[in-house]
Amino acid sequence: MNVVLLGAPGAGKGTQAALITGALGVVHVASGDLFRSALKGKTELGLLAKTYMDKGELVPDEVTINMVVERITRDDCANGVLFDGFPRTLSQAQALDEKMAGLDRAIDKTVYIEVPEEELVKRLSGRWICRECQVPYHEISSPPKVAGKCDACGGELYQRADDKEETVRERLKVFLSETMPIVEYYERQGKLIRVDGNRQIDVVSAEISGVLGVASA
Ligand code: AMP
Repeated sequence: MNVVLLGAPGAGKGTQAALITGALGVVHVASGDLFRSALKGKTELGLLAKTYMDKGELVPDEVTINMVVERITRDDCANGVLFDGFPRTLSQAQALDEKMAGLDRAIDKTVYIEVPEEELVKRLSGRWICRECQVPYHEISSPPKVAGKCDACGGELYQRADDKEETVRERLKVFLSETMPIVEYYERQGKLIRVDGNRQIDVVSAEISGVLGVASA
């Protein structure tokens, strides 16, 4: 099964992906994580991406599409992928459909996690992420058991540079102008499922598991 998780920054895509990937039996492919790991490795791709990420802007389509296509053509993705943060523009969605068709695969379902803007800003400004396994925490709503340490792997938690309020507002603006058209794109294809993301993590997760037909995490 190939699934796209859609939602504004802070909607909970990473959190939900971590909870349902295992049950789905697919690989979690998060474009933002791929960029951050390229940056950690100081590659040309990572350094280029940083110039956009720091401003809350999108990395150009061609660069992003090539990076994701390279990832999904690896063997481990043959059983399916849970896309998180990609596609984010209409061109990316169309390129993904074409590439998947060429691989004799298709996007089966798209889950759109909806959350009001003020809640998104609140969530992002309190967000901490594991440097090792990328699991996100929130200092108020889902704190780690030990401050600064990941419950899952013990890795160090850090705050993303692009989670400061001004950059968050820009990222939300970009979401509305660039990514919202994709919601309609998948709706027209009859693949869009809307989920209210303004509820507790486990409630949202149970609903997503239900609509995807997998056992709840
Ligand atoms: P994320 O971790 O998904 O919030 O992504 C962090 C940043 O990486 C975004 O603000 C963009 O600068 C860049 N990025 C991630 N995914 C994409 C994408 N599909 N298209 C363009 N830029 C992206």
